[in-house]
Amino acid sequence: MPQDPRYDILFEPVKIGPVTAKNRFYQVPHCNGMGHAYPSSMAEMRSVKAEGGWAVVCTEEVEIHPSSEHSPIIEGRLWDDADIPVFARMNEKIHEHGSLAGIEPAYSGFTAANLYSREIPMAPSHRPVEDYHPVQARMMDKTDIKNLRHWYVNAAKRSKKAGFDIIYVYAGHDLSVPMHFMSPRHNQRIDEYGGSFENRIRLFREILEETKDAVGDTCAVVVRYAVDELMGSAGLSSLGEGRDFVERLAEEPDLWDVNVSDWANDSSTSRFSEMGNQEPFISFVKTITSKPVVGVGRYTSPDAMVSLVKRGVLDLIGAARPSIADPFLPRKIEEGRVDDIRECIGCNICVSGDFLSTPMRCTQNPTAGEEWRKGWHPERIAKKTTDESVLIVGTGPSGLECAQALGKRGYSVTIVEATTEIGGRVKDESRLPGLAEWGRVRDYREGQILNMLNVELFLDSRLNAAHILEFGADHVVLATGSKWRKDGVGRKNRTAVLGSDGDNVFTPDDVIAGCEITGPVIIFDDDHYYMGGIMAEKLRKDDIDVILVTPAADVSHWTHNTLEQERIQTRLIEIGVEIIPLHNITSIAKDKVELGCVYTNRPKTYQCVSVLMVTARLPEDDLYYQLMEKSASLSSAGNKSVTRIGDCLAPGTIAAAVYSGHRYARMLNEPEHDNVPFRRELSQLADA
Ligand code: ADP
Ligand code: SF4
Repeated sequence: MPQDPRYDILFEPVKIGPVTAKNRFYQVPHCNGMGHAYPSSMAEMRSVKAEGGWAVVCTEEVEIHPSSEHSPIIEGRLWDDADIPVFARMNEKIHEHGSLAGIEPAYSGFTAANLYSREIPMAPSHRPVEDYHPVQARMMDKTDIKNLRHWYVNAAKRSKKAGFDIIYVYAGHDLSVPMHFMSPRHNQRIDEYGGSFENRIRLFREILEETKDAVGDTCAVVVRYAVDELMGSAGLSSLGEGRDFVERLAEEPDLWDVNVSDWANDSSTSRFSEMGNQEPFISFVKTITSKPVVGVGRYTSPDAMVSLVKRGVLDLIGAARPSIADPFLPRKIEEGRVDDIRECIGCNICVSGDFLSTPMRCTQNPTAGEEWRKGWHPERIAKKTTDESVLIVGTGPSGLECAQALGKRGYSVTIVEATTEIGGRVKDESRLPGLAEWGRVRDYREGQILNMLNVELFLDSRLNAAHILEFGADHVVLATGSKWRKDGVGRKNRTAVLGSDGDNVFTPDDVIAGCEITGPVIIFDDDHYYMGGIMAEKLRKDDIDVILVTPAADVSHWTHNTLEQERIQTRLIEIGVEIIPLHNITSIAKDKVELGCVYTNRPKTYQCVSVLMVTARLPEDDLYYQLMEKSASLSSAGNKSVTRIGDCLAPGTIAAAVYSGHRYARMLNEPEHDNVPFRRELSQLADA
């Protein structure tokens, strides 16, 4: 039972059909970019969550047949018996910690192009696949439907063999065929599987019943269902068929895992939604069913969780992202260490791993994805091997993470900040519209180091090379960050843009510093992540006329990977930002700029008063080169190393800066790898 009796309720067991969850913490299915391609990494990542106290740990979507596969995107794979050992290994680890293992078998229809298997995708009706692949899904005939039901049953039996306790029937995110059959927008059939509501839910009902018959004696058979697609009458709605469905099948599954669709709505970023944003849509479910209900909403606060249970909204607290940012969230609540929770910031860097087919990473948790390949544990770190001291210059995400991780190792650390506030770029960026939660990157680390007697923090102290020499630390870490460049050099322009040295040209650092900027302003975004769009939003909200120019086809292009692009562009259009895609900036004068079409170079002139360059950043590394000039004096003073981390080495994401700081701390005085710095999962040559 937890240290704090207020949280007792969160540690009550919950019966889910034939199995029992030891508490109310439920890691719902989530993608991770590892899946079938990096199975050892995937298994260890899930096992760490079980160790961290999650009573239920689920897989991501798991493909059940080669006629529905997501390559190059990496999901789980259970095509035949050969895949069973992968999951059996994961489940053994999950069970060792007393947790239940859940699997989400998925058949994705027109949302999987089958680029690897070359099988023709199948859907309720003929339609092209998503993502603009030149592939069409064909309409399933009766034999196909029969086969599909059989594949689901096979998947359930294999799941049971692999040791799963919970088996999903998945109809969420507009991603699975059972959901496509339900939707009038996807299902135009005229047989008994199309038309009326009863007909459209027939396939789902059949799969649910057959799964229960096949494995329901020992496994919980649960439903993941999107009660609302947030598209009014064009989709499922919690006021209409979304609710009818729950009413119709209320007591059939062993548990309801309910959410909103599509994935961008379900995993909305903090820029667009607050914690608990799904509650108004899902809260009706518990009034209809007596079965346990799990839902998500980026819950990181135990008080909010208690309230959800007490108010009868949820029985189990579902989490994907909060469990990635802090796999030990339940244990920390149990042990009365709520202040140690590393709260998810809702940035969706983790989601990008799925889109980019690479192991998931997390801004808050630098060990995410590294559990197996580097052996990094989110809560354990090797103790120091020497009594050496470390001076860290800069308190941005890289410096703070480095200080807290070195502090945990027991090193004597001094961290120094030039300004009067800690946090570096997260302090600044968390003040931009919608990014307040990003401040948690600073808050967590500040909380940790303030409790460490071996870490000293000094503010308002800009260090120069002489100070550092005089300080005499064994190791010096430069975490001095970066600054946006003004000359327009980036991806499109490899040399300075004509006129970029004018005093009407600004950078995001100027905006953040509060410089007065007169409109109309042209923002040139050749960075393509969030900063260009955020600058447009901020300036427009300050009532400045904004034109956003980008060489890409859409604004903030990389945010497709964080499920935000559509929302960003919609918001900018709605607040009156003029968007000029597919153009480069070629020259700047006092009252105008010249743009060029990226295809034809055809020029276009735009009147404006100011220009804001969002193209690239340059490391703040002068101090490093000054120290290098004094390397002889440094080493005679006993210094053993000077190292740049984070943006000071190469500007990147906040996640990259945190990782960089963590990596330094892990590796200090540890043996370096000669070559590949992590364990690889090598594919085997198959028998000829
Ligand atoms: P990163 O993302 O790599 O952590 P940031 O730009 O967020 O980098 O943070 C860099 C921090 O370093 C800022 O807070 C800045 O004020 C501080 N800083 C830069 N130069 C010095 C210096 N010479 N002495 C002390 N602090 C510095
Ligand atoms: Fe949360 Fe961002 Fe980490 Fe994802 S990457 S779990 S959204 S902090």
